[in-house]
This record gives sequence, structure tokens and C-alpha cells, in this order.
Amino acid sequence: MTEKLSFIAQCQKIRYFLISFTDLFGVQRAKLVPMEAIDSIASNGAGFAGFAAWLDMTPADPDILAIPDHNSLFQLPWRPEVAWMPADLYTMDGQPIAQTPRLVLKRVLKQAEEKGYRIRTGVECEYFLLAADGQNISDPRDRANKPCYDQESLMRRFDVISEICDGMIKLGWKPYQNDHEDANGQFEMNWTYADALITADRHAFFKYMVKSIAERHGLRATFMPKPFPHLTGNGCHTHLSVWDNAGTTNLFHDPQGELGLSSLAYQFIGGVLHSAQALCAFTNPTINSYKRIHSPVTASGATWSPNTISYSGNNRTHMIRIPDMGRFELRLADGAANPYLLPAALIALGLDGMENKRDPGPRYDNNSYTDPLPIGTVRSLPTNLLDALRCLEFDLVLPNALNVEFVKSYLKLKYQEWDEYSKQISPWEMENTIDC
Ligand code: ADP
Ligand code: MG
Ligand code: MG
Ligand code: MG
Ligand code: MG
Repeated sequence: MTEKLSFIAQCQKIRYFLISFTDLFGVQRAKLVPMEAIDSIASNGAGFAGFAAWLDMTPADPDILAIPDHNSLFQLPWRPEVAWMPADLYTMDGQPIAQTPRLVLKRVLKQAEEKGYRIRTGVECEYFLLAADGQNISDPRDRANKPCYDQESLMRRFDVISEICDGMIKLGWKPYQNDHEDANGQFEMNWTYADALITADRHAFFKYMVKSIAERHGLRATFMPKPFPHLTGNGCHTHLSVWDNAGTTNLFHDPQGELGLSSLAYQFIGGVLHSAQALCAFTNPTINSYKRIHSPVTASGATWSPNTISYSGNNRTHMIRIPDMGRFELRLADGAANPYLLPAALIALGLDGMENKRDPGPRYDNNSYTDPLPIGTVRSLPTNLLDALRCLEFDLVLPNALNVEFVKSYLKLKYQEWDEYSKQISPWEMENTIDC
């Protein structure tokens, strides 16, 4: 896109631009810029005080500048006079800021490109539609124990789902299916995979779009990993394939390979398994994330989320599933995962796996829920956020593969979050400790 943004604004009847960046905790921060000022803001950057966002900065630090990516413009389908543009963060003297999630991803993709790899991803962002007060699901008739694919519950929310899907069609994402998921009040909408940065921007925008459109219908959408203890949580399964730089040959595709995957694909998976405990600091980044993995069986009969660091074929009880030739699915990530840090960490581990030809070990075809592997066969996933953060801190691969400075900032803020949480005295503690 080489035209000036003001010209695009005139052609597409855009009056305002949301110059937006996603911080380390996944919060989208923006300035709303009128089209009259957009050309100068787009080249000079929109100014922000870094301390006011989750970026590990102090109030004494100089301002930071958000420069929008001209290749990435999303006209809000529900309010077309506004365009959302993801931005990258720079210092006042033009240096990239290491702890910008979108830049972390871009750096990893650059490394991939230098090795001849083009990464393509698809994400499945599950969410709940709640009543406006956020206390309960919005549809009191959506009560079945096995509500997955429930036609009537899906169609009672047709107005919201179709408006979001129409938005994706208009944006050119090629959506292909929408369904009611495994928890009451839970939905999933699928669009076609693309280059990893494009999918990451779409992932960020999808969350904003779903929340905004739900709100316009008097509802509240949540991507929270586990909002209800007895129901299946919100996953963010990530599908991935590695292509040549031209994007014409899928290097994961090998009809002769086991399950149609090349040895390069198994090395990638080997890298992911090798540092999976550290990966959780990004795929499962909140306190609540650890209520989704390792959770007891839900009302539907399965949690659909992994407990162990293992891979399988078309089997949804393991951390990695190989559903088809030429790609794998990481089932670990949840709805709180940062749209940029999730693929960045996953791809960084895959590059390490391919570089070091890491062996993923055997495939397991057991039902992990009813027939778990004998203790000691495979490693367990971390059981809480602190566990995952420590794994990241001491991992020999991931901090270096991502960027040590960024990981330091991330850990600092996340340890603070853990400390904040730990100050709480819960009803459970009172109940179980008062008579000690
Ligand atoms: P499931 O529920 O069976 O896991 P979905 O159809 O909900 O599958 O989601 C599959 C996702 O995987 C979609 O985003 C799809 O575009 C993506 N996908 C399909 N093929 C590839 C591929 N080769 N590389 C990356 N992503 C892919
Ligand atoms: Mg001011
Ligand atoms: Mg799906
Ligand atoms: Mg799903
Ligand atoms: Mg899936």
C-alpha cells in the first residue's frame, strides 16, 4: 500500500483511524486520529506514555511512538468510518522497542525467512457470549450437557454470529464455518489460515470485533480461559505449516512421512515439545489459564485441553494433534494468549527444533483422559502460572530465541501479577484453614 492514508480515507469514506498496539498483557491501546491528521501521525508516530501500558517502562521514561503498518488496515465492519491499524513501537529517536509484542513476532519471522521458511498459521478463538453483566451465559435455554454443535442454541444467536461472519467476509478473511462449541454459551468461528503476521493481526482484530459486536447486541463476549469451573474452557488452538519463501511448497507436507508429515515437521514438533513448559508462559499467560489445563472432567464429558507434553494423530486429548497432512495443531493455547507472543514463541521453538534436529520421541495414541500414560512416560504441563514463569526463566532455548531483554520485561511484569494474586485470601483458604 503506497498511497497516503488520507487518500485511502477519501476513497473508502474513513473518517477516523485507530492507531493501535497490543501490549505485553494483550491489552489493545489506541489513539483515535482524524483523517485530517493521519498522514503526519502515520509517518511521525502517535505518542504514548509507555508506563501507562504493560510494557515495563517508568513514568520517567521518554514517550514512545506507535507507527502504523501500512500493509495492515481493517475497516470496522460495524462502523466503517473507522479503520483499525496495528502499530509497532519505537523510541523518540527511531529505535524499535524490544518489548513490543508485534516486533517480537516480526523478528522471529525474519529469522525464519533468512533460513528460507515462510510460516503460515490459523487460529481457533473460542469465546462465550454472556449476559451484559458478565455473570452468566446469555441464553437460559442453552442448558444441554453436551451442547457442542447444538443447532438451536447456535441459531438463537444468529444475529450476532452472522454479523461477525459477514464482517470477516467483508474483510476478505475467507471464513468457512461457525458453530456452538462444547460449553453452554460457547462459540467458535473459523477463517482460513494465512502468513503468521497476517493471522496475528486478524486474531487481535477478531477479539476486538467479537467483543464490540456482542456489546452492540446487549451481550458481553469473553475469551477468558476458564470462566466456569464445570464447563469446557476457551481454547485458542493454533495450526501451523512451514513453506518455502515463495509460499508455493509446503515443507511439512510429505505423503511418505508418518501421518503425511515431513521429517522437518517432526523436528519442529520436537522443538516445541522440548521447551513446552516454558512455552506455557505465553500460550497460557494468566492465573486462570491453569484452571483450563489439568482440569477435572467437565459436564460434557471432556475438557478438550491437554495435560501432558505429548503429540498424537487425529486425537484431541494430547497437546499436539496431527489432524491432516502437512500441518499440526497446538491445542495448548487459550483465549488469553497474546495474538503476537503466542505465534512468536511457538515459531521460535520450531526454528530451534529444525536447527537442532530435535527428536519429538514417540507418538501416543491413547485417550489421555480415560487412559493416561503411566507416570514418568511424558512430562506434565505446568500446574500454575508461577510454575510456567519459572520454566521460562530457566529455559535454555526460549529466552534467547525470542529476545532476552523482552523476556526479562515480560517475566518482571508477570511475577508482579503473581505476587498481586498471592496477596488475596480466598474463601477456600478460609474454609479449609480457619480451624487449623
Ligand atoms: P479443528 O476444530 O478440527 O481443529 P478448524 O477447522 O476449527 O479445525 O480450524 C482449523 C484451522 O487450521 C483453520 O484456521 C484452518 O485455516 C487452519 N489450517 C488448515 N490448513 C492449514 C495449514 N496447512 N497451515 C496452517 N493452518 C492451516
Ligand atoms: Mg496528554
Ligand atoms: Mg475448530
Ligand atoms: Mg473448538
Ligand atoms: Mg482445534
